[in-house]
Order: sequence, then C-alpha cells, then structure tokens
Amino acid sequence: MAAILLDVDGVFHISGEPIPGGADAVRRLRENGHRLRFVTNTTTRSRAEMAEELRRLGISLEEDEIQTTAAAAAHALAGRRVLALVMAAIVSDLEGMELVGEGADAVLLGGADETEETGRVFSYMNLARAFAELDAGAELYCLHKNAWWQTSRGPLLDAGVFVAGLEYAAGVEATVLGKPSAAFFEAALAALDADAEMTWMVGDDLYADIAGAQQFGLKTVLVRTGKFRPDEVEGSRIFPDAIVNSIAQLPDWLENQ
Ligand SMILES: [Mg+2]
Repeated sequence: MAAILLDVDGVFHISGEPIPGGADAVRRLRENGHRLRFVTNTTTRSRAEMAEELRRLGISLEEDEIQTTAAAAAHALAGRRVLALVMAAIVSDLEGMELVGEGADAVLLGGADETEETGRVFSYMNLARAFAELDAGAELYCLHKNAWWQTSRGPLLDAGVFVAGLEYAAGVEATVLGKPSAAFFEAALAALDADAEMTWMVGDDLYADIAGAQQFGLKTVLVRTGKFRPDEVEGSRIFPDAIVNSIAQLPDWLENQ
C-alpha cells in the first residue's frame, strides 16, 4: 500500500468542471488501502471551501486531508507582523500571524483567481506598499510562484509575475511556501507518516508537482489533463515515472505496478 499525494486543480477539475472518473478513482484508491492527501497550491479558497468543492464533485474526504499553502504560511509566519496581498477567502486560514498595513516583518503574496478581486489585491498601490516594506527590510514570502494556470477559458496569468517583479525591484528572493518547495512535501509526508520512496505525487504541473516531488525523492505520475502540454514534457529534462490520461486511469495503473 502506498501513500499518494493528489494535486487538485487540473487533476479533479478545471474551473470547477469535474474531470470524469475522479470521484470513482478516489473511492477505488481508498478501497485498495492507499493513504491519500490532497495537496494544492490553490490560494483563493479556504480549506473548508475546498473540502465543500471536492464533495460537490462526488469525492468523499475529511477537511484535514487537504493541505493548502495558507496552512504552510500560518506555520512559517506564526507570531510575525505580515503585510498579506492575498484573496479575502483565505484570510481565515492565516491564523497565528498579525496582519498589518505597515511596519511588517514579512510580505506575503498569494495567487490570482478568475475574478476582479485579483486586480484589487495586486493593485499598483498594494505592490508599491509591499516594495516599501521589503525595502525597509521585510522578508518576501509567496504561497506559490506559478506563472499561469489552466481555466475553462484557456491559460490565465497567475501571480508569480508579481513575486518575480518584487524580487527584481527589491533585490530579494522570495521563499516559496507551496509546491514545489521541499517544506510543503515534507509536511505532506509527515501528515501521512510516509517515506518519500514509498510515496507517489500525482499532478498536472510538470514543475510544481513533478520536478518538485522528484527533488524530494517521491515517485511521480503526470496526468494528461489540466495544464498538461505534450510539447512541454518533450522539451523538458523532467521525466515523470508515468504519464496517464487522467486521474481515472490511476487506480488500474497502480494495481499493475
Ligand atoms: Mg494542478
């Protein structure tokens, strides 16, 4: 029996539209005795909302089976004064840090979503405020540094561009809290009490999911859904252990191992 880390966006749904066979795959993986953890770089929904969303897709799970970047931030920044440019929905998950408008110890950037809120969170005024804090010595953290993600309307620019911009302007390097950071995978393995060599990471992102997990010693399965691009795989030097059509194929593929 294996431990399996499952990415969510692009694996189980795209913009909320279910990818066929996902719920059934989770049920079969559980029946086969595998231990599961849902590991997501989603930065626009609280853990409770994510659990609801997955249940609407027919997946049965407990809220504490979901590992989010906000939880990683809460752990890394506990007790510190933080200027947070994040979506309102995840503020409830940032427990233990003091959210401030100035005089911050750290600046925290979240991700974009498909609504107008993205434009407000990452407004010039807010980015200039963040730059001022970094210039005064605050440390830069981000929930992820993703360049783009796949939506029902096609690829959409993510907030990695703002992280890179602030790094450039302030001459600093951001600490990434979500995938592909080692700390994120470490927390997932600890939660499952699993060894890296006995654990699979399943995702649609060649860099955050596959390369990130490989660096940490996990075995990897890339799905051909979500942001999967055949050209990107062929042009990269990243070799997942397997590529399957979708999450629906995973239970059979694992059984044949
Ligand atoms: Mg994904």
